[in-house]
Amino acid sequence: MTDLPDLLPLAEAQRRILDGVAALPAELVAIAEASGRVLAAPVDAALTLPAWVNSAMDGFAVVAQDVAGATADAPVVLRVLGEVPAGRAPELGVEPGTALRIMTGAMMPPGADAVVPVEQTDAPAGASDIPAAVAVRAPVRKGDNLRFPGSDVRAGTRLLAPGRACDAAAIALLAATGHESVMAYRRPRVAVISTGDELVPPGSPLGPAQIHDSNSYALAAQAAEAGAGVRRLGIAGDTLTALLAMLREAVAWADVVVLSGGVSLGAHDHVKAAFAELGSLSLWRVAIKPGRPFAYARATSGDRTVALFGLPGNPVSVFVTFELFVRPVLRLLEGRPSAYDRPVRTARLVQPMRGSSGRHTIARVILAPDPERPDGLVARSSGGQDSFMLASLSAANAMIFIPPDVDLDAGAEVLAWELRARDS
Ligand code: AMP
Ligand code: MG
Repeated sequence: MTDLPDLLPLAEAQRRILDGVAALPAELVAIAEASGRVLAAPVDAALTLPAWVNSAMDGFAVVAQDVAGATADAPVVLRVLGEVPAGRAPELGVEPGTALRIMTGAMMPPGADAVVPVEQTDAPAGASDIPAAVAVRAPVRKGDNLRFPGSDVRAGTRLLAPGRACDAAAIALLAATGHESVMAYRRPRVAVISTGDELVPPGSPLGPAQIHDSNSYALAAQAAEAGAGVRRLGIAGDTLTALLAMLREAVAWADVVVLSGGVSLGAHDHVKAAFAELGSLSLWRVAIKPGRPFAYARATSGDRTVALFGLPGNPVSVFVTFELFVRPVLRLLEGRPSAYDRPVRTARLVQPMRGSSGRHTIARVILAPDPERPDGLVARSSGGQDSFMLASLSAANAMIFIPPDVDLDAGAEVLAWELRARDS
């Protein structure tokens, strides 16, 4: 019927799209801004942590031998010479028969070799004056309640490897070891465009035959969640001129342009022509349901390569094709070591589900613990599976892949991509 190429298998489409995609250039990023950014260079420790012996408890720095026989019934009384607050080098030392009050993290004074926690003494816990003497009610051994140099980090050792995404734990380690900034890959810039004369932004009243633009909001959220910086450029009307104008603006700024709608065979579908005008149109139909009409192109702008994705208009097709094709590209641009990151689960279907002829079917499901198998999961349809149905998309926590030409019976094992935590 047409001059269209054959359906492209899902895995082949993914391979072609990811081919040659590499991390964006690295830049210096302040650690306060580094959350989610991927390290482009290793980070080594310039400091040893702890740098000096310090107390692990609020209590009293003592000579352990002094209190070796202390009990609740026969406490050992020590003279308190003063205290070592956090952030001040000790001015006094401890001698046999004496103690210094000490705070958690404070530097151990010379002479002392253990800390007695305040709870094991008669001294009040919390803010209080320095007592003249302290009764120790339990023994400590040499080294008790101390933190030793290098027990956490040794100077010169590798702290973080390239490819590590900076999460809170990595950022804590960077800060503690004195790193103010790191070399991280640039975040991809994603421009989002909706196309269609029927579209009206949410918040504006709907005229006859109009619907709200949901795709650009969904795509912006998906791109942001994947770690990209996002600009929503708005809605382009169904003319080649309008589309090209907005696409040119997008290409001038973005690394990735994601456009939805206008890739079908409708009389007002201009995306394919617009892409061909700006770059090389690479593929056209992918053997998946939903999401078959799908356009991809690469353009250049200055020294940047820009990936153009023309996703289908139907909202679920948009969501699914972003997951399958755009998110993996963003991950590679961000410098993440792998394109695919969704946890893959196997689950038992609780109901029959039909596949489609010649295409992978991607179905929205709810994964839940299997009542019959302790560590197993069951998958049930989250509702209507048509590609315009958003309620079942938001009810789903995973999507499953039904191979081409396969109908699954209840009880069949399926592969699922988990999209969000099951308790969220
Ligand atoms: P199209 O591929 O342009 O023919 O669009 C296919 C279907 O998706 C139509 O029902 C459109 O109204 C719908 N659609 C296209 N773009 C959007 C959008 N941004 N938000 C919501 N629905 C859309
Ligand atoms: Mg349209």
